[in-house]
Amino acid sequence: MIIQLEKDIKTTQIDTISEYLATTGYSVSGVKTQFMDYLVLLGNVKHDIRKIGSLDGVADIHYVNDAYQLVSNMWKTSPTTIDLGDNIKIGANDFSIMAGPCSIEGEEQTIEVADFLVANGIKIMRGGVFKPRTSPYAYRGGGIDSLKMFYKVCQDRGLKIITEVMDASQIDDMLPYTDVFQVGTRNAQNFNLLDALGKCDKAVMLKRGMSGTIEELLQAAEYVFSSGNEKIILCERGIRTFEKAYRNTLDLNAIAILKDKSHLPVIADPSHGIGIRKYVEQMALASIVAGADGIIIETHPIPEKALSDGQQTLNFLEMQQLIKKATALKALNF
Ligand code: PEP
Ligand code: MN
Repeated sequence: MIIQLEKDIKTTQIDTISEYLATTGYSVSGVKTQFMDYLVLLGNVKHDIRKIGSLDGVADIHYVNDAYQLVSNMWKTSPTTIDLGDNIKIGANDFSIMAGPCSIEGEEQTIEVADFLVANGIKIMRGGVFKPRTSPYAYRGGGIDSLKMFYKVCQDRGLKIITEVMDASQIDDMLPYTDVFQVGTRNAQNFNLLDALGKCDKAVMLKRGMSGTIEELLQAAEYVFSSGNEKIILCERGIRTFEKAYRNTLDLNAIAILKDKSHLPVIADPSHGIGIRKYVEQMALASIVAGADGIIIETHPIPEKALSDGQQTLNFLEMQQLIKKATALKALNF
């Protein structure tokens, strides 16, 4: 159950509500986000909730019959839009295409990609500077200096950036140079990181764990929300299955289900989802049909020379074709 409290609620009113709730048998957790104060009530309790609804300071009360609460659309029935500023939004009526290299490799590459994105109407650039790599000898990204350069290149061109944070200790340094924090599949249940991101007023995109369930992804989002940050985006990036013909299995089912269960925007990542360049376009378009609010695509001036994930990265011509087809598909308004 979720109680939304009045915007200008006084401490004395909160105390009275808490005292009353203590008599009901619910376990009560207070949540304060950048937008609102909530109380989350858990427990199998028989109680006439109209009594809670009529307490002074209670704006609304909602019954939520899901394991997760604040990210469920059982209480918030309208889709959430994440406002990145400068009229760039993610979710609801704003279909997002985020694109860029797997790794930020240097200034020349960053400028080349950023100029390409601007010329093609893309508003959000992706690129990792802290790279989780299976082998410790692989390219692990240029770190914070690379991020500063990446951010400046994008700011000069009116682009927003999304980049991966691997550890809570990186957040403070990254904060001034990041528009959307990406939590990678390998950190999908790093609860310290999720809690820490919950204390920022920056958008967070949560990738599904490679062996994580849909519910686990939603519970990861619940961590961020309940720690105080409502600006959450969910991302389906493929899961590990028995199939060996491709890197991961992009779970289109998850897109449909997440859209149905949660009010949060859902982005598809077909680059990691299938991991083979020639199929990325098809899976991106399929994700749109499944209901995704956007796609995140790896693109590079010369994918064959990329320092990471070149095998799944589109060149500019392929990316341009995908933008054209995705835009046409969205325009059907199905
Ligand atoms: C990436 O976006 O380059 C990445 C490492 O993603 P994931 O965590 O989904 O593997
Ligand atoms: Mn990658």
